[in-house]
Amino acid sequence: MQIGEVNDDKLKEACGVLGIYNSCEDAGLGRTAYYGLYALQHRGQESAGIAVTSGNGIKYHKDMGLVSEVFNDEIIDGLCGKIAIGHVRYSTSGSSTLINAQPLVVKYKKGSLAVAHNGNLINAAEVKQELEEQGAVFQTTVDSEVIAFLIAREQSEDISKAAIECAKKIKGSYAIVMMTENELVGMRDPKGIRPLSIGKLNGSYVIASESCAFDTIGAEFIRDVEPGEIVIVNEDGLKSFKFNDDNISSLCIFEFVYFARPDSRIEGKSVHMARMEAGRQLAKESPVEADLVIGVPDSGTVSAMGYAEASGLPFGIGLIKNRYIGRTFIQPSQESRIIGVKLKLNVVKDVIKDKRVVMVDDSIVRGTTSGQIVRLLKESGAKQVHVRVSSPPIMHSCYFGIDTSARKELIGARQKVDEIRQHIGADSLNYLSLEGLIKSTGISEQKFCSGCFCGKYPLEIPMESKEHLFEKR
Ligand code: SF4
Repeated sequence: MQIGEVNDDKLKEACGVLGIYNSCEDAGLGRTAYYGLYALQHRGQESAGIAVTSGNGIKYHKDMGLVSEVFNDEIIDGLCGKIAIGHVRYSTSGSSTLINAQPLVVKYKKGSLAVAHNGNLINAAEVKQELEEQGAVFQTTVDSEVIAFLIAREQSEDISKAAIECAKKIKGSYAIVMMTENELVGMRDPKGIRPLSIGKLNGSYVIASESCAFDTIGAEFIRDVEPGEIVIVNEDGLKSFKFNDDNISSLCIFEFVYFARPDSRIEGKSVHMARMEAGRQLAKESPVEADLVIGVPDSGTVSAMGYAEASGLPFGIGLIKNRYIGRTFIQPSQESRIIGVKLKLNVVKDVIKDKRVVMVDDSIVRGTTSGQIVRLLKESGAKQVHVRVSSPPIMHSCYFGIDTSARKELIGARQKVDEIRQHIGADSLNYLSLEGLIKSTGISEQKFCSGCFCGKYPLEIPMESKEHLFEKR
C-alpha cells in the first residue's frame, strides 16, 4: 500500500519569486533573500533556492524541501553579493524533482543568467519543440527553462530587448524575476495573471510575488509591476519597459480567495479586508438561523469573522489547527484519512456543543476534507452544521499555474450544490456568488481572471496545453 501525504482539500499555489538589487556588495544578501523567501513559503513547499552574483558568475543553492530545511547558516553566509533572486516551488507542470527546482542558472555567451518563474506557459510545448528542432537541448521539464533559453539566445547585449523578444514568443501566466551578472529583471505577463510587486529597502530594490515579503525584510512597498511590463534594475536605477499597452489585466481572483497571505496588498487592496468583506457578502446572500459562526483555519477564519459581523451572530474558535504538522504521511484508507484531518484540526468541544454552527470555508475543491470536518463537528456535539463557502463552486481547471487537478476531480464540476451538501453531510450549504466575490475585492470585474469559476479564460487554451499540463502531473 502506498503512503499518502496528509493534505488540504485546497488549490495549490505554483510558486513564489523574489529578487533583490543592491548597489554595492552585501555580506547579508543571502540572509535577506532567505527571510524574504520565508515570507513567501505559503506559495510553494516542494523546493527552495537562492542565486546570487557579485558581477562575476552566479552562485546558487537549491534543494527539495521547505526554506528552513534547504538552508542553514553556513549556506546562507556563503550567499553574499550584489544581486539575488529566490524561488519557492509547488509543481503544476514538470515533476517535483531537484533538477526542476529553481532558480534555473545557465551559462551563455554573455555570462550567466538565473531565472525564477511563477505561472504556467500555455504554449510551452510548442515553443520547446520549435527550439529543439533548432538544436536546443533541455535539461529540465519546467517551462522556466524555455524562458531562460529564449533570453540566452538573443544576440542583443541589452537585456530589455532580449526580455521583450522572449515575451513576444511565450503565452500564458508569468511573474518572473531573473538576473544577469549586472542586472535584476522583473517581468509580468500581458494579463498580469500572477502578482508581482516592487519595493525599496535602504535604497535597494526588491521585487516579490507578494508585499508580505517586503514587510518581513523591512522594505517599503512602491507599486505593482504592471501587466505587460518589464522592469530592469542596474547601477542606473530602475527602468520600465512596456511590451503590451492594452492595459487589460486578468489578475487571478483566487489570490484574494486563498493564495495570497492576508497581510499582503494586491492591486492596492488588502487581502485581509477583501476576505472579511467576502464573509459579509456571504452573510447577506446566504443567511441562516444559527447560534455561532466558526471558520475553518486558517483561510476561512477571516471570512467567518465577516459573516459573524454582518449576520449579528457570535464568532467563535471552534476548530484549532495543528501548526506543527509539516509534511505528514499516512496510509490511504477511509479511517486514516479521518486521522489525517484530526492531525490537522481539532474541535473545541465546549465551544460548539449543542450549537447550530455556521462553518465558513474559503473553497471546496474535491470535497474530501469538508465532509470529514462536518462529521468531526457533529461527533463533537454540534446540533447542526451549516457550511458557507466564501467563493463560488470551482467548476473548471486552471491553466495558469494553479493545480486544480483534472476537471473530473472537482466536486463543483460533477455535482449540484445540494448533492455536494449531501456528500459532505451538512445541514445546508451555500457558496458566495461570483458577483459577491468580485464586489468584496473592490476591484472591477474586468480586471480579473475567474476562469475556474465561470469557464471563461483570459487566453484561449490550446488543446496540446491541456494535455501537456495534466499528463505531467
Ligand atoms: S483559472 Fe482560477 S486559479 Fe487559474 S488563474 Fe484564473 S482565477 Fe486563478
